[in-house]
Amino acid sequence: MQGMTDTNRPKRGVPEGLWLKCPGPKCNATIFRKEAESRLNVCPECGHHFTISSQDRIQQLLDADTFEEWFTDVRPCDPLEFHDRIPYGKRLVDEQAKTGMLDAAVVGKGFIRGRPIVIGITDFAFMAGSMGLVVGEILTRAIAAATEMNLPLIIVSGSGGGARMQEGILSLMQMAKISQALARFGDAGGLYIAVLTNPTMGGVAASWALQGDITLAEPGALIGFAGKRTIWNTVRLELPEGFQTSEFLLKHGFIDRIVHRRDLRTELAVIIDYCER
Ligand SMILES: [Zn+2]
Repeated sequence: MQGMTDTNRPKRGVPEGLWLKCPGPKCNATIFRKEAESRLNVCPECGHHFTISSQDRIQQLLDADTFEEWFTDVRPCDPLEFHDRIPYGKRLVDEQAKTGMLDAAVVGKGFIRGRPIVIGITDFAFMAGSMGLVVGEILTRAIAAATEMNLPLIIVSGSGGGARMQEGILSLMQMAKISQALARFGDAGGLYIAVLTNPTMGGVAASWALQGDITLAEPGALIGFAGKRTIWNTVRLELPEGFQTSEFLLKHGFIDRIVHRRDLRTELAVIIDYCER
């Protein structure tokens, strides 16, 4: 397929330094970075799951050296010539330099315990994982490829930014575009497993992140549409404590299972076997 290449990018994600402060609620522990890293970036004290980069996610989930990245020729642009604090065009260049990514998602093919899959991952480090034209386009193409190749599809969300406001309506239309591709994938009998990680918000939560045949979430992830403050400002309603966490959503039927990061790879393999049989 055009634009499919292997890439080798520098590792990043959790900020540098010997020690980490755990942001987990009621934890606040200072932990040795190496200790957290040896546990897939999970706090040894409270089990808080740190946000990790898409590259780390690939390493954790896929069999070694099986990932083949697709559509690396799709680049972001600034169609609205949008300015907020800084011009969007400059922001893109800065984010690219910071992360080594072209935009906020990575898609491709790989293997999970020997099972071939198509995978998409959004990365919080690039503009909060927000979905603009590039994220929408490469996810849509990956879903179409999974449909054509008849492979299970896994999309891991780290999209706390929802739809990317700097691309206006063009980012919002990605919700419909991806949803259409997922509907075609579903009609063809494809298996889509959504993996929600901290945080998954806005237009991403309102489209592909919550359209999985099976929806998994990491513990304690923030998952929702609008934030607590926005809801309060709009409808003046105080919502229950922790109403946007994995645990609350599991209880209310929005997600199917909460899976600890160390078990995610095996869990995905088990689900694929169960559904493909
Ligand atoms: Zn902790």
